[in-house]
Amino acid sequence: MNPDDAVGILSESGAMLEGHFELRSGLHSDRFFQFANVLRYPEHAGALCGALASLMRSGMGDEFDVDTVIAPALGGIVVGHELARRLGTKSIFAEKQDDALVLRRFDIQPGEKCVVAEDVITRGGRVRETIDIVLERGGEVVAVGVLLDRSGGKARFDFPTFSLLKLEPVTYDPDECPLCAQGLPLVHPGS
Ligand SMILES: [Zn+2]
Repeated sequence: MNPDDAVGILSESGAMLEGHFELRSGLHSDRFFQFANVLRYPEHAGALCGALASLMRSGMGDEFDVDTVIAPALGGIVVGHELARRLGTKSIFAEKQDDALVLRRFDIQPGEKCVVAEDVITRGGRVRETIDIVLERGGEVVAVGVLLDRSGGKARFDFPTFSLLKLEPVTYDPDECPLCAQGLPLVHPGS
C-alpha cells in the first residue's frame, strides 16, 4: 500500500474530513481526522495495519523480535490488535484512570519485548505514557508504530518510530483564517 492508497481509504471512510474545523487548541484547520471512522471497517483496519507491519519489519530487519503490542485505549486498541495479528504477537492495552494511563488488566514481564502502537499522534503524549508503563515494569520497548503522525516531526521518542503516514496539519489563527474570510461555516468536530 502506498501513501496515496492509505489517504484514499481514510478519505472514503470518513476518517479524513475536509472543511473548516475548530481544533481543541482553538486553532482553525481545513482538515480533521476521525480515525474511528476507518477503523470501524475491519478490512481497512487490517490493510492499514498490515502496511504498517511491513514497514516496521523492513525497517527493523532480522532483529525485529516482539512479544507484545501495547496500545493506549481507546484509539489505539484496534490498531494494536490488528498490528499484533500481523506481527504474530499478543495485544494488550493501557487505559485511562483519573487522567493517567494505567495497566489494569494485563501484566508485562521483565524483558518482555514490546511495540507501542497508536492510531494518530499529535504531540505523542499518550505514546510516551505507554512507553513509561512498559519501562516501569522492566519491559523493553522495541519500536513505536503509528498510522498517522500529525506532529510535523515534533513527536520524537527514544526508540525506532514508524508511521504509515506523515501529514502536517495546516492550522490558522482564528484572526487570520482564510476559511473564516471566505465565510465557510465553522465545524466543531466531536461536539
Ligand atoms: Zn476559520
